[in-house]
Amino acid sequence: MLTDPPDVDEIEVSVFGPSFGEGILVKLGPTQWIAVDSCNNAVTARSKPLEYLQQIKVNVEKDLVAVVATHWHRDHIGGISDLVSAAKAADFFCPLSFKTKEFMTFAELFGPGKGNPILQRSSEYLRTLQILRNRNKCPLFVGPDRLLVNISGATAHSLSPNDALITQFLAGISGDLCRIKQDDAAVNVDRGDPNHTAIAILVGFEDCQILLGADLEEQHSFGWSTIMATSKVTRSGIQLFKIPHHGSSNAHHQPLWDHDIPKDCLVVLTPFSSGTNPPPTRVDVDRILAHSTHAYSAARARSTSAPKLGGGVEKHLEAEGIKNRAQREPKMGHVRFRRKRASGSTWSVERFDNAVLLKDIHT
Ligand SMILES: [Zn+2]
Repeated sequence: MLTDPPDVDEIEVSVFGPSFGEGILVKLGPTQWIAVDSCNNAVTARSKPLEYLQQIKVNVEKDLVAVVATHWHRDHIGGISDLVSAAKAADFFCPLSFKTKEFMTFAELFGPGKGNPILQRSSEYLRTLQILRNRNKCPLFVGPDRLLVNISGATAHSLSPNDALITQFLAGISGDLCRIKQDDAAVNVDRGDPNHTAIAILVGFEDCQILLGADLEEQHSFGWSTIMATSKVTRSGIQLFKIPHHGSSNAHHQPLWDHDIPKDCLVVLTPFSSGTNPPPTRVDVDRILAHSTHAYSAARARSTSAPKLGGGVEKHLEAEGIKNRAQREPKMGHVRFRRKRASGSTWSVERFDNAVLLKDIHT
């Protein structure tokens, strides 16, 4: 049953996907969890990973020990401020890269300035930073090969973003800032695509590892080939892989699959549910299935109609910029992987709601 909690000696990875977004939970210790991104349950307008933790009676306040925003794209941060708000003991990790308004918001909240008119008035980003500031905490910025969490020998390392790319971003922003006037909202300090500085995470246990690919794409100066060429964190024994960027070809790096992802590795993705021909396309699915015998998707790609939302939920979604999404996006699903931590244990896989085998994603 969905509400059955894992045993204390079990590892769990839960992947939640559309209606719109991606959220992942990993149980690292006897009771401790980390959250990697968040997506809203379109029906309740609440963080789906948070709802699930509460359903299985996790003490979120104490035992959700880290929340990671892999990047600030909307499909990865739905309800993340709810998660951070509930996780009072958690560290919060994110990449040191911003879009214009995010940068100004950050400067406003954590700097000595007099207030900036470009401040984002309402966003997951602003709410998250406000919660941290009220706790006298700050975001923890990460990069390659950084240890984020270590609980009884279970570790989570970030493998990206690449320091050279962050350096480039900071150098660019400092040049742009010289031109910014207090009332000038038009100056553009956007530097590249947030996917390029997304945080890929390697979770390690005694005899198995889990690779969470975020939306990190493959580019020579910052992507998967750079991780393979420079990372000193051992990637052997990967048994579960969250495929990057919704299975898109721009995040595919064949040497990673050839060297690090065994044929019998469990692989899972969340489909993107916006735009024309969103990933994974049929070509993407065929490419993944040519390599993987155990492939899952947190949701079908096809949209399904949903009933009109009542109780002010639509208004709330509209305020979040996600109005009517439940009407035209695939319903949410959940793939749950569990195994005993003891060496040689095997995984059980459960699919809930709209989750499917990857081969059936377009049915
Ligand atoms: Zn995404």
